[in-house]
Amino acid sequence: MNYNKKTVKDVDVKGKKVLLRCDFNVPMAKDGSGVITDDKRIRAALPTIQYLLDQGAAVIACSHMGKPVPSFDKWVKKQAEKGKDPASLTEEKWKKSLDELRMEPVAARLSELLGRKVILAGDVVGPDAQAKAAALKGGEIMLLQNTRFEKGETKNDPELAGKMAGLAGENGVYVSDAFGAVHRAHASTAGVADYLPAVSGFLIQKELDFIGGALANPKRPLVAILGGSKVSSKIGVINNLLEIADTIIIGGGMAYTFSAARGGKVGDSLLEADWKDYSLEMIQKAKDKGVKLLLPVDTVIADKFAPDAESKVVKAGEIPDSWQGLDIGPETVKLYCDAVKDAGTVIWNGPMGVFEFDKFAVGTKAVAEALSETSAITIIGGGDSAAAVQQLGYAGKMTHISTGGGASLEFMEGKELPGVACLLDQ
Ligand code: ADP
Ligand code: MG
Repeated sequence: MNYNKKTVKDVDVKGKKVLLRCDFNVPMAKDGSGVITDDKRIRAALPTIQYLLDQGAAVIACSHMGKPVPSFDKWVKKQAEKGKDPASLTEEKWKKSLDELRMEPVAARLSELLGRKVILAGDVVGPDAQAKAAALKGGEIMLLQNTRFEKGETKNDPELAGKMAGLAGENGVYVSDAFGAVHRAHASTAGVADYLPAVSGFLIQKELDFIGGALANPKRPLVAILGGSKVSSKIGVINNLLEIADTIIIGGGMAYTFSAARGGKVGDSLLEADWKDYSLEMIQKAKDKGVKLLLPVDTVIADKFAPDAESKVVKAGEIPDSWQGLDIGPETVKLYCDAVKDAGTVIWNGPMGVFEFDKFAVGTKAVAEALSETSAITIIGGGDSAAAVQQLGYAGKMTHISTGGGASLEFMEGKELPGVACLLDQ
């Protein structure tokens, strides 16, 4: 995939209408009160929005929010699958489920942050959105309703995409800044690019520069640190990075599947028996490619999966029955920290242990600290990894922390991202 894409700086947007896809899928309070519990994603979109407004563009922003089910029958089916009593599934409840995913709270917060009015449309491509978009002037911003209120959104329906693009009119431009959604080929993330010249905003540009740069032309040696819970969720990442990296470090829950595959005893540790063969294949692939593959030499084990579990250190592959590995051990920490010292680039995806429990956050913390001390370009991808780095206080010391969980994983898997592929090449 070509990561060299045109950006907002490469097009003239003055006096034009810009359809801007953001990722405003913010977490909301569970009580349906419409309170945004973390506005990070809205704040992250501000530089691109401000730039467009300063350039004199009329900005038509849009985003999805949550997973509304835009058809009553489908909603009933889904709720019933979740075990809800069919008699309780009224049309009123369905409408309420949609109302909770309206964009009013986002518009209000965005308006506060920008210090200017944000015009909110009552629909996505309906009469209200059309009228408001038609009347929108340069330097003004409006927000469409939740794009997933339209059935065609997740199906990438060309008719819907055409209507969305139509809001920006004849000379319209499409700017994508929703990195968290670029791995999905939806009408608002990819389809619209068939109708409008499409470029990236600053958020996507940064992700392409750092992650794309590290994959396509890394400063070497490139060290990839892979952890997290399961081998099965990281097969693509391991496989792709084995093609690119000089060193691969394995930690976290998936290390136990590797250990078991090599004949080790893993007790009650996270084990995916079906993926043992795959682990052996990857060990072989590393040998064939001359990639250094590091596996834990010791591990911190616990007598239960709990923050107050009793713990001790044992050699990798020697975990007694009814104990489980929840972190890498001190020898492994040393080995891994040494391996990143002289790196040119480090890509990190997946915590080294159950960092949510203080007692088992030691390995993850040590690796984060080692990264903060190298002169390497350090790139963090994956939702939990980003959260771990943040929680442990090292966020400011990393070169780049990806804003897209699923998108950054697919990026590291080397997959084509539809929301990036559709943008104009430089
Ligand atoms: P990311 O979101 O960064 O891609 P993952 O979702 O793959 O990362 O993995 C994160 C989760 O892995 C964390 O919740 C962490 O508690 C868990 N984890 C790490 N090590 C272990 C382990 N040894 N046993 C069980 N779970 C683990
Ligand atoms: Mg995760």
